[in-house]
Amino acid sequence: MIYLDYAATTPVPRAVAEEVQNILLEHYGNPSSQYALGLDMKKHIERWRECVASALDCPPDRLFFTSCGTEGDNWAIRAALWQNRHLGRHIVTTAVEHSAVLECCKWLTLDGFDVTYLQPDANGNISAQQVLDAVRPDTALVSVMLVNNELGNLYPVAEIAQDLASVNPKTLLHTDAVQGFFSFSAKNLGADFITVSGHKIGAPKGVGALYIGARVRNPRPLLPGGGQESGFRAGTEATAQIAGFAKAVELRMANRTETQRHLDELRKYALEKLTAIPDLEPIGQGGAAHILSVSLKGWPSQNIVNDLSSQGICVSAGSACHQGKPSHVIKALQLPKKTASGVIRLSFGPDTSRADLDACAAALWNHRNTRMPML
Ligand code: PLP
Repeated sequence: MIYLDYAATTPVPRAVAEEVQNILLEHYGNPSSQYALGLDMKKHIERWRECVASALDCPPDRLFFTSCGTEGDNWAIRAALWQNRHLGRHIVTTAVEHSAVLECCKWLTLDGFDVTYLQPDANGNISAQQVLDAVRPDTALVSVMLVNNELGNLYPVAEIAQDLASVNPKTLLHTDAVQGFFSFSAKNLGADFITVSGHKIGAPKGVGALYIGARVRNPRPLLPGGGQESGFRAGTEATAQIAGFAKAVELRMANRTETQRHLDELRKYALEKLTAIPDLEPIGQGGAAHILSVSLKGWPSQNIVNDLSSQGICVSAGSACHQGKPSHVIKALQLPKKTASGVIRLSFGPDTSRADLDACAAALWNHRNTRMPML
């Protein structure tokens, strides 16, 4: 199998799976229990929190474990609106956020919130100025992702954070950094909320984290209950998943520079190989080393995905979750119909090789030469 869909989810390294198994089988105590089996787990949770916090460069007491990126996004948005409930009910976000943000905003409009969706340019870019211009005296929250999951575009979150105070000092800033885990320091980024997810970096599914900065002094709890996660996200901790998350972070941190170099090289190589195919062009500005979006203009993406899948190659369509229609991100680019319908996303990880990309390119050449394009 050739797996080129790391932006969807990542394989779990054996060392991570073993750590998860070890916790499940040997250390099953409830961290709230008052005997050694539980107390030990409590200590471990704090050690794992320190590990993840150190990768994000944030104080551990500002980092809260969640069940996934979607949960972190929803919590951040609701907590920001709660803190700024006396300021106003306006939200600024982009039309190319992940559905975790967009669907949450959609529900908020039913509660009377007013949402401004910023449109990207033809390359998928959003400028800091565009965001700042949209901020009003009643803007409670700005939510702009760090790395676009379909295009790989990088958005200027640090620049927005730097200038937001001069436009509205009370507006809070959230960034969905699910696709940018190892690319930032929370301290330097300056966002008030940062969402990350474990399964995009080699952890098991079902664990993530939300950083909540010091400007949010008393965050609105996501789940009030038994006091876990400092009372802000109650529920017995998912100890095995959190252990796996910390282990995955530790492994990636140990090879951070090499992995970055490897991914940079792979993307460059993939771009060269793929753009040699007639009718194939890159989509979006890109920027993140692990994501490459391309269109085989005229060949419907779902057919490409199915054809490659039959050869054991996993890539995703820009229309993956949308029943054959271009995704909201691809739609926002306002591409010609043939270009929009042919978009596929390749995404890479530490274990991806040039040979994987060669096989994918060969399959795409073959698809281009043997399948009928749409009229
Ligand atoms: N945000 C972005 C940018 C993503 O790519 C994803 C997952 O694909 C999510 C949020 C949701 O994360 P999770 O699957 O952990 O809920």
